[in-house]
Amino acid sequence: MRLLTTVAALRCYLAKRRLDNLLLEQQQQSEFEVTDRSLTAIGLVPTMGALHQGHLNLIQRARQENAVVIVSIFVNPLQFGPNEDYQRYPRTLDQDKQLCEKAGVDAIFAPNPEEMGVDLKNLQELKVTQVIPPSAMISGLCGRFRLGHFQGVATIVTKLFNLVQPDRAYFGQKDGQQLAVIRRLVADLNFAIEIVACPTVREASGLALSSRNQYLSATEKQQATMLYRGLQRAATKFYAGERDAQTLISTVQQELALASSLSVEYIELVEPTTLIPLEKIEEEGMLAIAARLGSTRLIDNIILRDRQPIIAIDGPAGAGKSTVARQVAAKLGLVYLDTGAMYRAITWLVLQEGIVLDDECAIAQLAHRCVIELAPSQDLQSPVRVSINNRDVTQAIRSLEVTSKVSAIAAQTAVRQALVKQQQNWGKKGGLVAEGRDIGTHVFPDAEVKIFLTASVQERARRRLKDYKKQDQSTISLEQLEKDIAERDWKDSTRKVSPLKKAPDAIEVNTDGLSVNEVTEKIVGYYQQRLSRD
Ligand code: AMP
Repeated sequence: MRLLTTVAALRCYLAKRRLDNLLLEQQQQSEFEVTDRSLTAIGLVPTMGALHQGHLNLIQRARQENAVVIVSIFVNPLQFGPNEDYQRYPRTLDQDKQLCEKAGVDAIFAPNPEEMGVDLKNLQELKVTQVIPPSAMISGLCGRFRLGHFQGVATIVTKLFNLVQPDRAYFGQKDGQQLAVIRRLVADLNFAIEIVACPTVREASGLALSSRNQYLSATEKQQATMLYRGLQRAATKFYAGERDAQTLISTVQQELALASSLSVEYIELVEPTTLIPLEKIEEEGMLAIAARLGSTRLIDNIILRDRQPIIAIDGPAGAGKSTVARQVAAKLGLVYLDTGAMYRAITWLVLQEGIVLDDECAIAQLAHRCVIELAPSQDLQSPVRVSINNRDVTQAIRSLEVTSKVSAIAAQTAVRQALVKQQQNWGKKGGLVAEGRDIGTHVFPDAEVKIFLTASVQERARRRLKDYKKQDQSTISLEQLEKDIAERDWKDSTRKVSPLKKAPDAIEVNTDGLSVNEVTEKIVGYYQQRLSRD
């Protein structure tokens, strides 16, 4: 792992890594026809150091999804007000280095303020260009109490994005307002960066981890747990049907009033993307708090979502994901979102238009313009009806030609982005069963039920052969299928980026020797268990 403290060293390091990546890409291109960009992606985790498990979760996620992981450690003077804790903020670089090394980070970027062009002299003379987020997003919540804070965050994050030019950047949901501001910044300034939000990591007591927790005495730490307890009280009311903002806010207030030493700055309910205050939750709301305990300022939030649950089914190729997903959806009266069919539809369109597979620009254009529609089939025996640009392609997308090309198309970043966006839009109201690679980790990371469906190689080969026979495409032997599946498993699970693996919160279901009905019953059982918990 490298520790880089200057912009020059960072640029040099990145140039070298990009050159290595370019060579890797070229190698891949000759091997697989097209490039899987995720194999060469750069992930950035911006932090202010004093790393804890919350940061380490962002790093771990970045490690899974990128070839190069950069962690920046910079206590940003621009985001601290004159009476805030800039001088006192914990600085623990030696320990942070060890944690990063252990977590497999490639390089830490830890510049000083002067190197970042924001030393005190510059600040006092207002000599730096700053990025100002929309005032509607920074006038409420923390912005009301920390004037200039989000301008400081937006400025430094923009500088880091320009310096590192990552493919993905990782932020915690704990700083909900910051996350919304950064998503807006990326959209408004046209950064080609995917912002990945990671859930808040908490102590067993419910207290959200924060570098500032170090300031708390043992008694204060106990009092601090009231923040999450208040949020949880409101969540319980919400799940019992309460939607009114004022009632939910008063619930938190009443809970916090029990902790005499907590001085509340705000309790607000806002729309999580625009941060507009809500009177009532229609789809989702972010209930956020800031409070002071002595001189320590603490924040926390939860997302309250009014949607039917989502079941996300992932697992190796050929484990029966689509058959099971369709049946689970039918059984529970949910919609089956056949993501594989969407990738197949685009592949069909690419072949139809005579576009060569490595013309990624033409394919990107096609993917962002096409309209895919999925209509549930009348009965379980027939597949979901699929149309693309008003052409029914339900049968056409199951051809051997589409099957052999679909993974190359699905690996293209622009295609994935276009389709994931469509899938997430469908997911807003919930009530879906979705299956496919990364569905539980990337597309619907907050799915209520996550299943990892597996089966032995032999079992999967037998099932696939049966499918091919049904379609009169039985020229492949069982042995060949076993070999292909084993090889695909190996490739999927050893790839450096996004290796196929179970999400930590997914339930593994091995389908060997089980009928589709039996597997369906199991999953329906997990779903019902989950519902009864809320
Ligand atoms: P900071 O070092 O406090 O600026 O935080 C760096 C990143 O880590 C931000 O994206 C935070 O949202 C994230 N983060 C901090 N604490 C947590 C936590 N308890 N859970 C998840 N993410 C966190």
